[in-house]
Amino acid sequence: MKVTEHISNAKETLFSFEILPPLKGQTIQTIFENIDPLMEFKPPFIDVTYHREEVVYKRMPNGYLEEKTIRKRPGTVGICAAIMNRYKIDAVPHLLCGGFTKEDTENVLIDLDFLGIDNILALRGDSMKNETYFVPEVNGNNYALDLVEQIVNLNQGKYLDEELQNQTATNFCIGVAGYPEKHFEAPSLNTDIQQLKAKVDAGADYIVTQLFFDNNKYFEFVEKCKQSGINVPIIPGLKPLAGKKQLSLLPHRFHVDIPDDLVAAVIHCKDNEAVKQVGIEWCVQQSKELIASGVPCLHYYSMGKSENIRAIAAQVF
Ligand code: FAD
Repeated sequence: MKVTEHISNAKETLFSFEILPPLKGQTIQTIFENIDPLMEFKPPFIDVTYHREEVVYKRMPNGYLEEKTIRKRPGTVGICAAIMNRYKIDAVPHLLCGGFTKEDTENVLIDLDFLGIDNILALRGDSMKNETYFVPEVNGNNYALDLVEQIVNLNQGKYLDEELQNQTATNFCIGVAGYPEKHFEAPSLNTDIQQLKAKVDAGADYIVTQLFFDNNKYFEFVEKCKQSGINVPIIPGLKPLAGKKQLSLLPHRFHVDIPDDLVAAVIHCKDNEAVKQVGIEWCVQQSKELIASGVPCLHYYSMGKSENIRAIAAQVF
């Protein structure tokens, strides 16, 4: 079922979360062990992230560096199929522009359609670690907007090869990313929201936000989106803080602010176990306020660990 159908059928705020594929070489069992404890909160869908290739350098015995391109976390599509098979709920694969030609994208979309996957979160992806700016593949999609357009075309039965016979239309529900504190490359929040509106106008059905720790940032963002004519559901994304290092890591990685009260509470913690508790309490308060404001769904970034998400969900759902 489509994410938008889950939302319109729901009488209360929905619970959903995002997982990462395991590192290459690890078993899918680790994924199930993290999903199992969260099933009692009845997630109608689970997102599975996509991780593009990385360039790594290995020192050879002769002193030279060998350059290798590897994917550390493959398996997104397989995990989606496994989730649907095991839990009988929807899985939402993330799909990137980065690393894909349009032909590759079309072929993945065909796989997803054949697997009965109804939803896709369409993203540009970040630049490779050895690049300053995002560089699309030759004949690839440049922005998430282009990827949305490609999916919409397939939903209308328009394949890249216009001469194909029997062009079967797909029926994907399309999610896109939104940034309450603006995407780091955007010159201003307003221009970023204009780009977001372009994705919605092109056919995106719903938005999932980047994580945030200050609900006012989300409320202001939703208001600005509405004023710009964006009328699709905007699902807030939440992540509980789980360690002291994250005070600098999360702003660096996700370009978000951490409120002073939360920073002070974390600094006073004697160890990371105490930080985890602070993170859970903060996220519970955020969740309760967001539910009271009528959000359609709360989407938690589990980062592969479900223990703290479970503690939060137990107090909120
Ligand atoms: P876009 O919407 O293409 O925007 C990128 C930038 O370009 C923005 O600054 C925007 O304002 C600007 N822009 C957009 N269109 C235009 C245009 N036509 N002209 C000029 N400027 C434009 N990354 C992963 O690698 N894997 C994942 O699984 C993953 N999941 C995510 C899930 C969520 C909910 C979120 C919020 C992010 C996720 N990301 C993931 C990170 C994401 O790939 C990065 O934030 C990436 O840098 C931007 O992706 P986007 O889809 O928002 O890009």
